[in-house]
Amino acid sequence: MNLKDKNCLVTGGSRGIGKAIALELAKYGANVAVTYARSADAAAEVVKEIEAAGRKGKAFQADAVDYNKAEEVIKDIVDEWGSLDVLVNNAGITKDNLILRMSEEQWDDVITTNLKSVFNYSKAAARPMMRNKGGSIINISSIVGISGNAGQSNYAASKSGIIGFTKSYAKELASRNIRANVIAPGYILTEMTESLSEAVLDGIKQDTPLGRPGESEEVAATVVFLASELSSYITGEVIRVDGGMAM
Ligand code: NDP
Repeated sequence: MNLKDKNCLVTGGSRGIGKAIALELAKYGANVAVTYARSADAAAEVVKEIEAAGRKGKAFQADAVDYNKAEEVIKDIVDEWGSLDVLVNNAGITKDNLILRMSEEQWDDVITTNLKSVFNYSKAAARPMMRNKGGSIINISSIVGISGNAGQSNYAASKSGIIGFTKSYAKELASRNIRANVIAPGYILTEMTESLSEAVLDGIKQDTPLGRPGESEEVAATVVFLASELSSYITGEVIRVDGGMAM
């Protein structure tokens, strides 16, 4: 796979899956910009690692919920690097609660951070990708968006919403050679999942045919495939990276 000189943006690229995606894209030759909300030092470290791989890197403090900021970030990348070829919408949060206990704030925070952000960045990317006569958008959903999960109605709604949004976007922009796909990870070991108890982790292992949680790098490898020309005839697809959990 070759991503030489492709210009990529990964939202939420300071930690976890987003960081692994950014580094993997750079490993295959891409220049990579990342956004983050709070972790300035961690994001700067990711940029250093991208540059150490011989690529260009950039970090933007940009709340994914902010519509105008998404336009600014993408304009900055296109002005400086000349194009945006690949967008990975990865930024996401959880605020779990049972529906009867869920506050309006918990609902709104998760829906806006996980779903509105995908609209913000995908919309802002459309014009530069049209001018560039192509692009690949990869949206990180979750198997919870396919199967649902008790205590995560806000998260599941946001992640299902990403699937519907991506299929619509893929249909609108296919004629411009812009592909849009979804990755639905299962349980991946990151800070988001580190608070799970041993009992819950044992349950996850039991429910996963491959018998273990996933690594961020395993999600990142699928991103590289969807970013590359090897997936040139794939659009509007949902690829589970879940060890078989949701099949
Ligand atoms: P982490 O909590 O480890 O990292 C989240 C990343 O998103 C950080 O870089 C964080 O930035 C960024 N972020 C959070 N809120 C915002 C915001 N408002 N604006 C900009 N950036 C923001 O999460 P994971 O790596 O585990 O998850 C990454 C994605 O993968 C999420 O969309 C998640 O839903 C999805 N996913 C994760 C699974 C898992 O098991 N881990 C399973 C299925 C899907 P900062 O460092 O500044 O806070």
